[in-house]
Amino acid sequence: MDFDVLVIGGGPGGYVAAIKSSQLGLNTACIEFDSTEDEKLKLGGTCLNVGCIPSKSLLDSSYKFHQLKDGLAEHGISAGKPKLDISKMMDRKNAIVKKLTGGVSHLFSHNKVTSIHGKGKLVNPTTVEVTDNKGKKNTYTAKNIILAAGSRPINIPSVPWNGTSVIGSSGALELEEVPKSLAIIGAGVIGLELGSVWSRLGSKVEIFEAENSLLPMLDRDVVKVIEREFKNQNLNISLGCFVKGSKTSRSGVSLEVEIEGKLQKKSFDKVIVAVGRRPFTEDLLAKDCGLELDERGFITVNDYCQTILPNVYAVGDIVRGPMLAHKAMEEGVMAAERIAGKKMEVNYNLVPSVIYTHPEIAWVGRTEEDLKNDGVEFKKGNFPFAASGRALAAGDSAGLVKMLADKDTDEVLGIQIFGNGAAEILQQGLIGMEFSASSEDFGLTMFSHPTVSEALHEAALAVNKQAIHIGN
Ligand code: FAD
Ligand code: NAD
Repeated sequence: MDFDVLVIGGGPGGYVAAIKSSQLGLNTACIEFDSTEDEKLKLGGTCLNVGCIPSKSLLDSSYKFHQLKDGLAEHGISAGKPKLDISKMMDRKNAIVKKLTGGVSHLFSHNKVTSIHGKGKLVNPTTVEVTDNKGKKNTYTAKNIILAAGSRPINIPSVPWNGTSVIGSSGALELEEVPKSLAIIGAGVIGLELGSVWSRLGSKVEIFEAENSLLPMLDRDVVKVIEREFKNQNLNISLGCFVKGSKTSRSGVSLEVEIEGKLQKKSFDKVIVAVGRRPFTEDLLAKDCGLELDERGFITVNDYCQTILPNVYAVGDIVRGPMLAHKAMEEGVMAAERIAGKKMEVNYNLVPSVIYTHPEIAWVGRTEEDLKNDGVEFKKGNFPFAASGRALAAGDSAGLVKMLADKDTDEVLGIQIFGNGAAEILQQGLIGMEFSASSEDFGLTMFSHPTVSEALHEAALAVNKQAIHIGN
């Protein structure tokens, strides 16, 4: 055998699985086909190249612009009319991406992971055929294989991408100027994050969502606050509407949208299609390799990311569960540890999610609806950031923390946060939940004052009607 472990895909699932395997003493290689013109491998996958990192870079830059333009007057600060240098903003983003993807290459060398350039195809449980950019084929064998080929955006026939005026999320991270008007199809994570970026930079943004409710994975009382805040930010979201057709011309794109049963024509400079992603399995599996896809195109795995072929694992966006980088990374670690004979598990009940709008939306665990459906009796505590001294001092007091706990045991079952710093605050709640903390445990923990995290403390106290800084 050439290797102990052969990983297909160098994204968060694959590169982490490769590093961990090597750290566990296994002779490991990682195959990745994405490369630069000089054939240098682009490791890091969707997340580092066209996902998490570039989008957060633009979210942070655009937020600073927005603050300078509209957010500092109440602090008594004015700086005249701010000037936008979009190409500098993009250069900064590209430099961060380059630094981090280069960092993964460095980690591969440091951990003695072999990089193989080309497109990998599973031929049988121990053999992978690799085709490089020039069509040259090589075959490698390994005792264990980890598939981590990730995902690709979904295209919709009524609005096909053309790479210029109708684009996907990758194109939306590369625009060279701010479109005057921008339509986004899909009010999911990408729609809300990239809608925020371009709206802050000056685009008139309209988001068209097919579902009748926004963010169905959250409780309605939390979503009501989110909707109000987004309206204030001119993020114009239309629910329950379908884009029936599109026509592109030199001046932009005309969309035919069905809103409340009526067909309307609307014109935009650019359209971003963000209606979800699908597993990327084209040419990944040879016909008789022994693996099949489920009805939605995912590779079927058990709770430990093992496929029906016991030495073949699959992790990240190509398997069930949320398409998130941290979930992919944890699965990569689990696959490597299981191959090395260890017993690691991933706690799928506690996968956190964050939408990096401003304020951020972050949640983990179960919602009221989940608990009602499961017949679990619960109690709840809410705390608005408007009652947080630190949030008021920062001039950032929109939103709330909501905590749900079991009625009898008091164990915390879910946390939803909409507010400045929600992602970081959630993480504190998540650590408690990993250790089955009760709302009383959070209530008895001392939080530094003044911090926005105190809102988590107060929401926990509110669960048992003991909040100090709001009425119970
Ligand atoms: P990928 O990152 O897609 O990596 C798969 C890799 O495999 C790719 O490099 C691909 O080139 C390679 N590959 C595929 N097939 C083959 C083959 N046959 N041979 C060789 N190589 C192959 N998630 C978060 O948690 N937080 C965020 O803030 C966040 N922001 C995002 C923003 C955007 C705009 C997008 C699009 C996604 C975002 N995500 C975010 C999701 C996150 O990027 C993915 O969940 C994550 O990258 C999945 O990791 P993965 O390793 O499974 O797949
Ligand atoms: P998504 O599933 O979050 O949202 C897609 C939205 O499009 C949904 O609300 C859906 O109802 C809507 N939709 C589907 N078809 C439609 C149609 N024909 N017309 C109008 N609306 C339609 O998907 P996404 O926003 O494309 O993101 C893809 C994946 O990337 C997600 O799974 C997400 O987890 C991941 N991601 C994560 C982050 C993060 O963690 N912060 C950021 C970006 C992307």
